[in-house]
Amino acid sequence: MSAVIGFVGLGIMGGQMASNLLDAGFEVIGFDLVPEALERLSTTGGRVASSAGQAAAEADVVITMLPNHSHVEAAALGEGGVLDGAKPGTLYIDMSSIRPATARKLAEVGADRGIRVLDAPVSGGEKGAVDGVLSIMVGGSEENFAAAQAVFAPLGKAVHVGPAGSGQTVKAANQLVVGGTYALVAEAIVLLEASGLDASVGLDVLAGGLAGSRILELKRRTMVAREFQPGFRIDLHHKDMGIVLDAARDAGVALPVGNLVAALIASARAQGYGQLDHSALLKVAENLAGKGSAA
Ligand code: NAD
Repeated sequence: MSAVIGFVGLGIMGGQMASNLLDAGFEVIGFDLVPEALERLSTTGGRVASSAGQAAAEADVVITMLPNHSHVEAAALGEGGVLDGAKPGTLYIDMSSIRPATARKLAEVGADRGIRVLDAPVSGGEKGAVDGVLSIMVGGSEENFAAAQAVFAPLGKAVHVGPAGSGQTVKAANQLVVGGTYALVAEAIVLLEASGLDASVGLDVLAGGLAGSRILELKRRTMVAREFQPGFRIDLHHKDMGIVLDAARDAGVALPVGNLVAALIASARAQGYGQLDHSALLKVAENLAGKGSAA
């Protein structure tokens, strides 16, 4: 594969994804604000750019994997950014989780400059990034989606879900379901333990029935053991619930359970759990039930 990929944002997710693209035979030229991230790229065989715009200027395909919309706006729309540097015809794929409205804006500005834009947020976490099995939700034209297939292949399974911004809307729905599921599994643990039962045994049964889920499958043991190292941090899920509620407002719908889940995640953050895994919603459920260590 001869295409050159510009990769901006080489953190927990982006660093692994860039490494998988290198392993697949792409040439990768990367940029990040953090020097250690650039060193990691060099050691895995990538080249280092001096700005997002320079990475884009040398690339056929540019990927951004940044924390939030403000970072994407700075790196893509700012002076010396991706859209300044990229040649007409370049494919620009933003894989960060951001507001659908910002994704649509990127597509519009890109189209004005002859840049082909896709929004392609992911689910699957750091492990999914390492293993190259991310679930990739893609918004944009069919034609651009087809052109990106070879780039998505080493990263995971990509599904085209609709026009520009749709990938971000599907990702928001994903985070709504994930947050709500964690909140309910947390309450199930509180109920089982307060009733004098072994929560592990109870959750084993739940996992095999209609209540079963990937979260019960992957996280019930660590939740019962109160192991909350991330994973996916509460701070990022708080950001994502903001995206969910913004998207709901734009779409003109009320999400009552979603608002409650957002409040529980905000409470987790306010109680100092922002750096813990989102399964630490269990600590909020325990505190509300008068069963936490803080109670
Ligand atoms: P991270 O904080 O580990 O990495 C982000 C990187 O972007 C950092 O290295 C930072 O230095 C860099 N950065 C910030 N602004 C920059 C700029 N203007 N120019 C260049 N680099 C810049 O975050 P992450 O966990 O890799 O998450 C990235 C995105 O993926 C987020 O939107 C997150 O919600 C989403 N996501 C994360 C996970 C996960 O499990 N961590 C899972 C799915 C989706």
